[in-house]
Amino acid sequence: MTGLMEGKRGLIMGLANDKSLAWGIAKKLSEQGAALAFSYQGEALEKRVRPLAEQLGSDFVFDCDVSDMAALDTAFETLAARWPTIDFVVHAIGFSDKNELRGRYVDTSLDNFLMTMNISAYSFVAVAKRAAAMMPNGGSLLTLTYYGAEKVVPHYNVMGVAKAALETSTHYLAADLGRDNIRVNAISAGPIKTLAASGIGDFRLILKWNELNAPLRRNVTIEDVGGAGLYFCSDLSSGVTGEVHHVDAGYHVVGMKAEDAPDI
Ligand code: NAD
Repeated sequence: MTGLMEGKRGLIMGLANDKSLAWGIAKKLSEQGAALAFSYQGEALEKRVRPLAEQLGSDFVFDCDVSDMAALDTAFETLAARWPTIDFVVHAIGFSDKNELRGRYVDTSLDNFLMTMNISAYSFVAVAKRAAAMMPNGGSLLTLTYYGAEKVVPHYNVMGVAKAALETSTHYLAADLGRDNIRVNAISAGPIKTLAASGIGDFRLILKWNELNAPLRRNVTIEDVGGAGLYFCSDLSSGVTGEVHHVDAGYHVVGMKAEDAPDI
C-alpha cells in the first residue's frame, strides 16, 4: 500500500524530536506520499525539527507558539504563501506546568489552569479556524488526547481537564466544519515516553500499569499512533468525523487489574 497521500499536503504541529507522537504520524504520512510542513515552538527547537523534516524531504519549517494568536496568524500566512490550500493538519501539542502534574488536582492554580487550557485545548480551535480557511475542498484536522480526559489518572490533573475540553472541542468543531467537508478527529493514545510525558509525575508507573493490564499486554508505539494518524488524514476515513479513537492497546475497555498482572 503506497501513495495513499499522493497529491496531499499538510501541516504537522508539535514535532519536538524523534520520540514525538507527531514524528510517528509524519513518517507514515510521508511514506504514503504526503508533502509536509512543520511548525515548532521557539528557535531552540528549530535545530531538532529541521533535520527531521529534511529526512522526510521537507524544507518547509517555521516557528509558531500556539498561545500567541498573532504568531498563529503569521504561521498560517507563511503556510498560505507557499501552499494556498492544504488537506490536513496534525495538532500534537500540549503543555502544563510540571509542578502541577504531581500532587492533587485540587491544588491547581488559576494561572496554570488557564495556560494549560489555552495551549492544550483552545489552540486546536484557533488552528481549526485558520486551517479551515485553507481547505476549500474539505480536509482533515487531527488532534492528540489521552484517557486522563475520561477517567482519573493519578497526577494527570489539570491536563485531564484540558484534554476533556479538547475532546469536546473535537465534537463541536466536527459539527461546525462538517458542512465544508472538513473532518475533525482525535486519537486518544496510550502512554508513550516522550518529552511532554516526562513532565507527568510517576509516568513510569502509568507505563508499567498499562503494559501489564492492556488487552494487548503491551504499550503502544509512535508507529501505532502513526498508522491511525494516516487513517484519519487520508480518504480511508472519509466518512468519519467527531471521533475520539483509542490507540492504547485496548486499555480503555479494562475495568479492573488483569488477573495475570503482578503487583507493582
Ligand atoms: P512532545 O514533547 O514530543 O510534543 C509536545 C509538543 O508540544 C512539543 O513539540 C512542544 O514544542 C509543543 N508545544 C508545547 N507548548 C507549545 C506552544 N505554546 N506552542 C507550540 N507548540 C507547543 O510529546 P508528545 O507526547 O508527542 O505530545 C504530543 C501530543 O500527544 C500532546 O497533545 C500530548 O498530550 C499527546 N499525548 C501524549 C501521550 C504520551 O503518553 N506521550 C499520550 C496521549 C496523548
